[in-house]
Amino acid sequence: MKKHQFDASRFRVKEGDTIDLSKISTKGSKEELTKSQSTTALSDDNEFLAEAQERLYAEGNRALLIILQGMDAAGKDGTIRHVMHGINPQGCRVHSFGPPNKEELAHHFLWRPMPYLPARGMISIFNRSYYEETLVVRVHPELLIPQKLPAVKSLEASELQDLWKSRYREIKYFERTLADNGTTVLKFFLHVSRDEQKSRLLERLVNPDKAWKFNPRDIEERKRWSDYKTAFEDTISATSTKDAPWFIIPADDKWYARAAIADIIASELESLDLKFPEVGKEQLLRFGEYIKELQRD
Ligand code: AMP
Ligand code: MG
Repeated sequence: MKKHQFDASRFRVKEGDTIDLSKISTKGSKEELTKSQSTTALSDDNEFLAEAQERLYAEGNRALLIILQGMDAAGKDGTIRHVMHGINPQGCRVHSFGPPNKEELAHHFLWRPMPYLPARGMISIFNRSYYEETLVVRVHPELLIPQKLPAVKSLEASELQDLWKSRYREIKYFERTLADNGTTVLKFFLHVSRDEQKSRLLERLVNPDKAWKFNPRDIEERKRWSDYKTAFEDTISATSTKDAPWFIIPADDKWYARAAIADIIASELESLDLKFPEVGKEQLLRFGEYIKELQRD
């Protein structure tokens, strides 16, 4: 058994729980982990994950889908860089979801992620995901216009409640089919405070090496903080299931969030009990022959 720094169940949203983000701290407890401990904890988990990924690939019948969501500057990119550090790039794919293109808009919103889902033996990471369809699209319902949905007759918030509910239901069924097909689905919400977002956006504006990350839209979206909060609360409450749980990660300290996420993924992979395929008796005999043949060569 691997030693875990975190109790993953502390962050997990139980099916049916109603989430109020203002009651959940954006800072991790220092008693659980200090900054200096986090470096060792993360590198332990990196090592574990690299080996687990090899077993997952060798076994070739299960898969892992990791979804990262959060406000702008919540630390999604840095999490991917640090948590996946040391993993064989051949066994892992990252897909970032920006605004959908014309072809994607013309299809059901769950058509879009299909090509990026992990094949058996693989890990896929979604940097944002189809969840944007109940987050940014809910905050900006005009994004529904080019989707031309027959059920949408008006963009009034009160008229759209059924649409979000049906999207939650569809997502739950979709993730259930993934789980039934051997894909572990883990969803992380990087929970940052409004103050921390402000200081990260300011950092992008004053530090020339970070300026490339700055997008004026982030300032506009920040004005809608409380609408996003509601959209996240409703989405997470409605779609955290046993098959595809949400984890709410305090993300004001980047080092804490990274260590926690790596440790939760490690716990979940550990519970899959991944094994290298066994070499059978007959195969061993054949290997003996191959050895002799190579030695004669
Ligand atoms: P970034 O993660 O900074 O590269 O930004 C990606 C942008 O794409 C964000 O503003 C998202 O809200 C937006 N986005 C992602 N998915 C969708 C979607 N389905 N519809 C509209 N906008 C989206
Ligand atoms: Mg951005």
